[in-house]
Amino acid sequence: MPAAVINFAYLLASALFIFALKGMSHPRTAVRGNLLGALGMFIAVLVTVLDRRIISYEIILAGLVVGAGVGAVLAVRIQMTAMPQMVALLNGFGGAASALVAGAALAETIHVGGAFGLQLTVATALSGLIGGVTFLGSLVAFGKLQELITGAAVVFPGRHAVNAVFLLINIALCVFVVMQPEQLLWYWLLLAAACILGILATIGIGGADMPVVISLLNSYSGLAACATGFVLQNNMLIIAGSLVGASGIILTQIMCKAMNRSLANVLFGGFGAQAVTKGDDIYKGKVKAASPEEIAMLLENAQRVAIVPGYGMAVSQAQHAVRTLSALLEKRGAEVFFAIHPVAGRMPGHMNVLLAEADVPYEALKEMDVANPLFPQTDVSIIIGANDVVNPLARTDPKSPIAGMPILDVDKSRTVVVIKRSLSPGFAGIPNPLFAADNTLMFFSDGQKAVNDIINALKES
Ligand code: NDP
Repeated sequence: MPAAVINFAYLLASALFIFALKGMSHPRTAVRGNLLGALGMFIAVLVTVLDRRIISYEIILAGLVVGAGVGAVLAVRIQMTAMPQMVALLNGFGGAASALVAGAALAETIHVGGAFGLQLTVATALSGLIGGVTFLGSLVAFGKLQELITGAAVVFPGRHAVNAVFLLINIALCVFVVMQPEQLLWYWLLLAAACILGILATIGIGGADMPVVISLLNSYSGLAACATGFVLQNNMLIIAGSLVGASGIILTQIMCKAMNRSLANVLFGGFGAQAVTKGDDIYKGKVKAASPEEIAMLLENAQRVAIVPGYGMAVSQAQHAVRTLSALLEKRGAEVFFAIHPVAGRMPGHMNVLLAEADVPYEALKEMDVANPLFPQTDVSIIIGANDVVNPLARTDPKSPIAGMPILDVDKSRTVVVIKRSLSPGFAGIPNPLFAADNTLMFFSDGQKAVNDIINALKES
């Protein structure tokens, strides 16, 4: 295939990737963005398969069938709440694939007696290093989120020193790969050492920081692909890898900012290593439970109602019930808005995706900056399965692990209704004084059931 055609196809695919990223930045255009990205990837794969020296189309076809089969089953089966660990797995496989392809390219060059340019050797070393870290780092992240291993940060004395030693070993092995590329063993040793570094770097991170780490590993998987692009001298891989690397870093920054943490603090802070604290002292004798009928009475007289979703809404799949409740309240003359915290749930945009699925109009979704000034003039704020993102300790306790994290100021509403199953803490593992506040009523129940009970009570009133 002529080089001009190939490069044009790669350019087209790259442009589609950029439009895909742009589209995915807003819920209204996200589906179209996704489709554009898939089309770009289809073009890129097709052109690569037609252009490159393919040894066996049968093996590629077999891989496609198996991979697409596994992917289709996972896509249907995976719950939205398990998406972060799914992304972790995909990142890990991406990193492993990049590292293995770079290793294979090096082995081929040795086999055919080709020349080792500096670009080839440096890019191969980087691919092995970043790919290995991404592979096992992502598997550890998957294991933590899937609760196959402890989700808490595993910290041990001298861990930073151990990590530093392993980093130095990895750098030394990179130098060996560059200096003696004809010795393939250096490359496989580097890959093994990078995998260990990946474990060490991820095992010390836990709790609410895991989604940030996954976003960072996503960025690494892009950088590994980019390095492999330089090994293979494939422009498409270089561009696509850079886009993944850059967007992953930007997302990581956004998440850190929303949690008021620095990336260094996330990576080295050991947050989540402390045991979950009980809030018996602050809750004792102060928590008031309410029935659906009592809540319906409050809502009947409310002129402005805020609905604040969190992780529990995702777990209980209450988004459709929540949509019905908001429509019912609006029919009765109330103004309803949804207050969305940037890190509510377990991944950025988690709440937006669920509410869009339930056809909640985008205009009803208010971001934190817009929602916060509305709470003092809000009659009832219904918190459904949110905890950390409405925890006033972030504002009042400088020693709290979430100190300084911007929160939704629901406690400033006239009445707060919190729907959750118990007084147990959220992802950060800390008690929430909101549950014991004078203006708070607790409704202990599964999210979806609770909202349906309130709807029924409203209909009967
Ligand atoms: P939290 O994890 O703080 O709290 C969720 C609450 O939902 C729990 O307290 C739980 O209480 C309740 N819940 C669970 N299942 C149900 C159910 N079936 N019905 C009703 N309630 C239920 O969630 P938030 O959304 O408030 O906060 C997100 C956390 O994740 C923050 O700490 C954030 O920093 C972190 N995080 C989020 C990221 C993101 O991108 N979204 C990224 C990084 C971190 P109970 O068990 O009593 O029902």
